[in-house]
Amino acid sequence: MTLDEITISRAIISEQMHIMLEYMDMDVAVVGAGPSGLVCATLIAEKGLKVGLIEKKLSVGGGMWGGGMMFPRIVVQSEAKRLLDRFNIKSSEFSPGYYTASSIESVAKLTASAADAGVQFFNLTYVEDVMIKGDGKLSGLVINWQPVEATGLHVDPLTIRCRITVDATGHDAVVAHHVSKKCGKPKIVGEGTMWADNAEFAVVTHTKEVFPGLFVCGMAANAVSGGHRMGPVFGGMLLSGESAAMQILDLL
Ligand SMILES: Cc1cc2nc3c(=O)[nH]c(=O)nc-3n(C[C@H](O)[C@H](O)[C@H](O)COP(=O)(O)OP(=O)(O)OC[C@H]3O[C@@H](n4cnc5c(N)ncnc54)[C@H](O)[C@@H]3O)c2cc1C
Repeated sequence: MTLDEITISRAIISEQMHIMLEYMDMDVAVVGAGPSGLVCATLIAEKGLKVGLIEKKLSVGGGMWGGGMMFPRIVVQSEAKRLLDRFNIKSSEFSPGYYTASSIESVAKLTASAADAGVQFFNLTYVEDVMIKGDGKLSGLVINWQPVEATGLHVDPLTIRCRITVDATGHDAVVAHHVSKKCGKPKIVGEGTMWADNAEFAVVTHTKEVFPGLFVCGMAANAVSGGHRMGPVFGGMLLSGESAAMQILDLL
């Protein structure tokens, strides 16, 4: 077969344009493809809803790749071990209740599960604002290419519609901050100091709808509600993503 460069280009542009047009309207937009966002998006998409995962970086996985201080291992406590098993991530017990896993295998398998469930990935895409109209509900996201934001180019963004948005942007809680700045709520308390035990419990209880149409999960949940940080123990992130998905599935 003789390869034609223009056919290759046409294939890429045509297929991605088709997907982007289809996802101008989606059921759930998950912003941030760290561990909590990946779990949340996967569990919702598995139920047949149209889910887009918006990630500003080239790669998905958020802060999981680096494990703790660049040692590519994560720790997951017994409460979340079932989620490692569910995503087929190998683990071993280090001491009673503490399981270790490869951070790279974890990202790879969470990502593969999301793709298998039908999650559509929009990487290099940055959420820079929100759409809130007369009903006072968050009903869309204002997006742009991340390189536009990074280089400070004056290029207008585009807008997508979603029934529910999940802020899974980690410590920055970017979507919640946009909403808070323009609507005066939710109140952003800010993240506390390192306190793993407290933080891991709190991140799940802080996973909730914080504004009509906006859920927070993962570190964003602790950043909004004033929970602590926990370092490279990831059980809370997985459980928080699962909790957000369950709450959203109940709602929709
Ligand atoms: C690069 C990085 C390094 C980290 N290093 C440490 C560490 O050394 N010690 C520690 O305790 N914790 C660290 N963390 C946080 C730790 O990894 C988190 O506790 C855990 O990863 C949080 O998971 P999460 O699902 O809440 O979101 P994260 O893993 O933080 O992922 C959030 C994702 O949201 C994306 N995002 C952010 N803003 C936008 C936007 N506007 N539009 C689209 N996407 C957006 C980010 O690119 C990222 O991929 C780090 C996080 C990151 C992202």
